[in-house]
Amino acid sequence: MMSGITKVTIGGRAILVKREDLLHPYVSGNKFRKLKYNILQALDLGASEIISFGGAFSNHIHALSYACKFYNIPLVLFIRGEEIDNPTLRFVKHNGAELIFVDRTSYREIKTTIAFAEYPNAYVIPEGGSNKLALEGIKEMMSEIKETNIHYCVPYGSGATSIGMMAAMQDTDHLHVFSALKMKDFAADFKERSISLDVPIRNVTFHDQYHFGGFAKHRPELIQFINQFEIPLDPLYTGKMMFGIADLIESNYFAPEDKIIAIHTGGLQGIAGFNARFGNLINPQHSQ
Ligand SMILES: *Cc1c(COP(=O)(O)O)cnc(C)c1O
Repeated sequence: MMSGITKVTIGGRAILVKREDLLHPYVSGNKFRKLKYNILQALDLGASEIISFGGAFSNHIHALSYACKFYNIPLVLFIRGEEIDNPTLRFVKHNGAELIFVDRTSYREIKTTIAFAEYPNAYVIPEGGSNKLALEGIKEMMSEIKETNIHYCVPYGSGATSIGMMAAMQDTDHLHVFSALKMKDFAADFKERSISLDVPIRNVTFHDQYHFGGFAKHRPELIQFINQFEIPLDPLYTGKMMFGIADLIESNYFAPEDKIIAIHTGGLQGIAGFNARFGNLINPQHSQ
């Protein structure tokens, strides 16, 4: 499946956006790429079910639940925090997933467990779907881009998207990673995850000044930016990255000849949950 490239204008400058948000109506963006080879592997192994983890608003659980329904694989999801109701969880339940809500301390322990005694034939996918097989899907995404000498921009959560890009890009490309969460040391976190995924670090710059205080944190200028942007952006990842790109462009961070390609990693399903939680901040015409 192919997804196109759109030209958008930021601060008077044209940049290209790889529209992974248009890849699939339910298995959105980078989650499609990260899950593809994991699902095929689970089918290959004849797994009795898939086990995975996530927050109650997570794009990962949303995408995975649809993929599992599609392939008729039972899905068990450990959800961080107290049981709540929101549009993401309603979709996930509608797709037949079993939900187990766990407090934050147990969640941290459970998500690092690889084997589950109660599920001996399960296939376990880590939080965010970020494992080695995820990199194969990201490589496929990169193979659809035919440009060269690119400054790639991509948001960062659990890392496999940006790290997969770093593995697949050419030596003449450069990667700009925008953190969606507040970390003590972004570069160290990235490095640790790159090592665990066996990808050497190269040609990468970390931008950690656009997380707006943490994951799902926001300020009016971010919301306003998203609501007036030419294409839909989600407030957790792509909105923050695009805000960051705009800021970097305005401060002449990029040279005039630099070719910028931002990856729209999707995540638009999260707008409904974000609006339900924070009071309809994002213009709904942006959430398709
Ligand atoms: C999950 C997600 C990310 C983060 O990707 P990682 O591979 O976990 O770094 C970025 N953007 C969107 C829209 C996502 O849903």
